[in-house]
Amino acid sequence: METTQIRLARRPVGAPDAGTFATVTETLPAVGDGEVLLAVRYLSLDPYMRGRLSDAPSYADPLEVGDVIVGGTVAEVLESRFDGLAVGDQVLSYLGWQTHAVVPGTAARRLDPDAGPVSTALGVLGMPGFTAYAGLLQIGRPQPGETVVVAAATGPVGSAVGQIAKLKGARAVGIAGGPDKVRALTEEFGFDVGVDHRADDFRERLADAVPDGIDVYFENVGGAVFGAVRKHLNLYARIPVCGLVSGYNDTEPPGGPDRMPGLMRQVLTKSLTIRGFIQGEFVPGHYRDFLRDMSGWVRDGSVRYREDVTDGLDNAPEAFAGMLRGANFGKVLVKVS
Ligand code: NDP
Repeated sequence: METTQIRLARRPVGAPDAGTFATVTETLPAVGDGEVLLAVRYLSLDPYMRGRLSDAPSYADPLEVGDVIVGGTVAEVLESRFDGLAVGDQVLSYLGWQTHAVVPGTAARRLDPDAGPVSTALGVLGMPGFTAYAGLLQIGRPQPGETVVVAAATGPVGSAVGQIAKLKGARAVGIAGGPDKVRALTEEFGFDVGVDHRADDFRERLADAVPDGIDVYFENVGGAVFGAVRKHLNLYARIPVCGLVSGYNDTEPPGGPDRMPGLMRQVLTKSLTIRGFIQGEFVPGHYRDFLRDMSGWVRDGSVRYREDVTDGLDNAPEAFAGMLRGANFGKVLVKVS
């Protein structure tokens, strides 16, 4: 059995391009005791992968040149020498950008196909959905009547943040790029207001959208959006810092005046809580509650999700680069086979 893999060929400077990746074909080893042969059905593309392509210090080790690009996957068991899994089972696994792999059976978790489409294990019912759930409820702690703002709001994290905020009785304001996404915020995801950060009058529209200020700003993007949001933060506002995707391709720090003193003054005078997190920290205490709550909400329609599926592993590099500039509309998945 052979596997097709996409590996890191060269560390990108700025946005990843065709030269960042190399496609290779490898022969897989025979399936050993306790192992399974898996065929990837869906590969998840996530912004954090950009960090792994660089060797800048981060919370996780970078990939080495020549490594298979990492990523969450839903795969099907083609052969099993592991008691807990049978041929045909669909599993959540972490095989990365490749078509097939032989792994220990313990590295794959069986998915219940009756619980919904298996692809959701990589989105609304997986890591991104959990990120929204844990970051919003453990750090943002929205109260009824408060205003919650989130950007990248049609993506898997942001759309879940807005919908969970609504379920907790808060007002949800979403920021997204372009009129189609902004329309979907209110029509599809039930936000109270959508604001287009690409519009010339973004700052005015944001001001109109938050007449009572902002109590929770769920930070997904940083950059100019945070600059606009900042002036509306209320006393005791909470800012779960989840991601800063607007700067992931940056090659040098942003120019302009040093905004740190002004920000620190605001932290002091408004008693702000700014708290970064990586979702894994909350898994031990909260993952079971997440699966119970989120599956219920998805089942009864109170949380909706959108997937943006690209066909073929060959197209993963372009889909990945597109996501970092906002070309995606929903959770980015690659249908591998
Ligand atoms: P998305 O599917 O939402 O994709 C990223 C989106 O970011 C784009 O679609 C685009 O949306 C938006 N974006 C890109 N550039 C800019 C910009 N310059 N200004 C404003 N928005 C921009 O991604 P996810 O939902 O998967 O992830 C959202 C965030 O959550 C990311 O920052 C990610 O790194 C982070 N994250 C953090 C985790 C953690 O544990 N801390 C775990 C998982 C995700 P638009 O076109 O609407 O602007």
